[in-house]
Amino acid sequence: MHDRHQKTDRRGYEKISIHWKFHSRAAISIGNPVDLKRASASIALVNSDILEKLRFGVRDVPDFPKKGIIFKDITPILSDHGLFRASIDLFLERCRGKKIDKIVGIDARGFLFGSTVAYELGVGFVPIRKRGKLPYKTEVAKYSLEYGEAEMEMHIDALEAGEQVVLVDDLLATGGTSAAAAALIERAGGKLLEAQFLIELEFLHGRERLKPIPVIAFLKY
Ligand code: AMP
Repeated sequence: MHDRHQKTDRRGYEKISIHWKFHSRAAISIGNPVDLKRASASIALVNSDILEKLRFGVRDVPDFPKKGIIFKDITPILSDHGLFRASIDLFLERCRGKKIDKIVGIDARGFLFGSTVAYELGVGFVPIRKRGKLPYKTEVAKYSLEYGEAEMEMHIDALEAGEQVVLVDDLLATGGTSAAAAALIERAGGKLLEAQFLIELEFLHGRERLKPIPVIAFLKY
């Protein structure tokens, strides 16, 4: 199904290049977007194939940005159009059947997935950014990271009271960032239907901090 070539780059990190030899079932799914209007039993069948391919697209970078952290680098997924499309389709599949007014994405990799999902759904996109990046008046929420402390903010007029939103980010670690984002959404009067992540570091139990908000993650470590 795939050949995985590993090399080491000049900084000593593992380099991965993947050459896919699609068999028919996976090729159909990777090459085409999910049809949101059509309930498809075949999605469930192809998912394990897709997830395996996406997993190979996540590069572990040790000791980044601090010693002891294994950084999950999703740039190999982004740079492969088939993998990027497959990852977006997973989010879209989860959004199917939900009445969504806005997608909220978290700075910065949540923007990559979230804005694309919003575009495909035909709804608005709202960025939640690290403090000091948004130009207009903001609400601020403090949070703790797997590797530090920070503050997130959202424009005060980004959501209207009662709007139904889905939160999107690349990765759920301790849950501090997304819990802060959830607090900002709630303060703005938004209804958070679900928090969606490409990756979850299960051993950090981040989803506990989001309770009772439903959490979905596609790749678990
Ligand atoms: P947390 O608040 O601990 O759940 O951290 C989640 C946020 O930090 C996400 O926006 C991730 O992009 C980033 N993050 C935390 N840990 C990692 C990691 N090991 N690899 C990649 N990104 C991470």
